[in-house]
Amino acid sequence: MRKYLTLTGLMLLTTNITWAEFKLPDLGNPADRVLSADDEQRYRQSIREQMFQFNFVMTDPVVASYIHYLGYRLAAFSDKPEQTFDFFMVPANFINAAAYPGGLVVVYSGLFLETDTESELAGVLAHEIAHVNQRHISRMMAKQQKSTAPILLGMLAAIAAAQSSSSSDAPIAIAASVSAIQQQLAINFTRYHEYEADRVGINTLYNAGLNPEGMATFFGKLMQKNRVDPRYQLPEYLRTHPLSVNRVTEARNRLQNFSPAPVRESHMYAYVKERLRVLTADEFTDLNAYYQGALSQETGSVNALLYGRALHEFTSNKFRQALDTLALIEPQGGTRHVVDLLEIQVWSQLDPVVTKDKIDALLAWSPDNDTVLETTARVLMQYKDLDYVDQAISHLRKLVVKHPHNPHYYDLLSIAYYNALKPTQSGEAMARKEHLMGRNYRAVRILKNLRKNEDLDYYQTAEINALIARYEPLITERERQQEIAADRGIGR
Ligand SMILES: [Zn+2]
Repeated sequence: MRKYLTLTGLMLLTTNITWAEFKLPDLGNPADRVLSADDEQRYRQSIREQMFQFNFVMTDPVVASYIHYLGYRLAAFSDKPEQTFDFFMVPANFINAAAYPGGLVVVYSGLFLETDTESELAGVLAHEIAHVNQRHISRMMAKQQKSTAPILLGMLAAIAAAQSSSSSDAPIAIAASVSAIQQQLAINFTRYHEYEADRVGINTLYNAGLNPEGMATFFGKLMQKNRVDPRYQLPEYLRTHPLSVNRVTEARNRLQNFSPAPVRESHMYAYVKERLRVLTADEFTDLNAYYQGALSQETGSVNALLYGRALHEFTSNKFRQALDTLALIEPQGGTRHVVDLLEIQVWSQLDPVVTKDKIDALLAWSPDNDTVLETTARVLMQYKDLDYVDQAISHLRKLVVKHPHNPHYYDLLSIAYYNALKPTQSGEAMARKEHLMGRNYRAVRILKNLRKNEDLDYYQTAEINALIARYEPLITERERQQEIAADRGIGR
C-alpha cells in the first residue's frame, strides 16, 4: 500500500511540474492544433533529461549503440529522413514501446525479448517513428491540452519511484502497480492514427531492407498470446496502441503491395537479445537452465547463445568458464568486436598485461567504434596505473566530442578524471553532466565550489566562469526551490 501511495504522490508532483513549463500555443481550430516545432524540441529535451535523471535509459554500450543504429537505419528510409531522433532502451520487463513529440522513441527490454527477428523489432520501431513523423502525439497533446503530457511523464515517475524503493540492483519488475496506473490514465492513439502508423511504418520497413511481414507477425503474436491465455496480462503496448484483428489483417493485406526483395537482417540482433536477457534477468530467471536448453536444441543463433552464456558466466564471476565458452564462438558479420570486448572484460579480472595487449590489438583495427571506446575505457580506468587511466580519458573525450548531449559519457569522464587525480576536470565534467540532465542549479553549485580552489590557472578559471554564465540563466524556479528544500532537509 505504501508503495502505491508513493507512486501516486510522485505522479502528482510530476503532473504539476510539467504543465507549468509547457505552455501550449493556441492555434485556433482545435482539429488543426499541433505543437510548434520549438515546443516539440523542448518537450523532447525535457523527457530526455528526466529519463537520464531517473536512470531510465539503458546506457550499456552494446545495447545503446544497437538500438541507435537500428532506429536510424529505419529513420533514414522513413518519409521524413531529416527528422532527428533519440532511440532509447528502457531496462524494464514490459512489452511496450512509446514515441514522444520531437523525435524520442523508447523500447522496453521486455518487448525486445518478445520479438523473434530483427524485422519484428524494427516493425515496432518503424511504427513509432511514423507516430513521430506524422506528429500524432503533438496533435493529441494540442487537442487535449491538459491531460496527455503528464501521463507520459507519470509513467516515468511511477517506474522511477518503484525503482528507487527497491533495495536490489535488479531491473524494475513492478508491472502490476504501473499497469494499474496506466489503466486509469492510458492515452490511446486513435484508431485512425494506428492505421496510419502501420501503413507508413510498413513502407519504412520495406525500404530499409527489412522484412515488411515483421510488423504483422509481431502484432499477430501479441494478439494471439492475449487470446489463448487470459491470465496473460494485456501487454502495455496494446493499451496505448489499440490493436484489433482488423488491424493485423490489414497489415497482412498490405504485404501484397510489395514485390519480394532481399531481407538484410543483422547478426547483431541475436547478440543484443542475449545480452539483454542476461543484463535484465531477475532472481527468478534460471539462466543456466535456459542456455543449457537453448543450446542443446539449437534454437536460434548458436553463436549468440554462446555469447549470452559467456556473459552470464562472466557476471557470475566464473571467468575461466567464460573464456572457454567464448573460444567456441565463431563471430560473423560485424559481431567480432562485441565478442572481443567481453573477452577483454573477462581478462581484466585475471591478468592486466594480457588485458592491455588485447585492448591494443582491438583498437588497432577498430579505433573509432563507440562501443569499443567506452568498454575499453571502463576497463582501463579500473587500474591504478595512471597511463591506463589517461588512455581511458582520451577515449571518453572522443566520445563526448562525438555525442555532446549524452550525460552518460560525462559521468564516466568525471570518474576517470577523479581516478587520474584531476579534481578540477572531474568537477567540470560532473557539472556538464548535471546540465545535460536539466539540473543547472546543481551544475552551478559544483562550478562555484571549484572556483574557490586557489590552484586554478587562468584558463581553468575562465572556462569555469564561462560555464557558470551559461548555466545560471537556465536555472528554473522549481529546481531552485527543490534544491533549497533538499539542503534544509540534510541540514536538520
Ligand atoms: Zn501506435
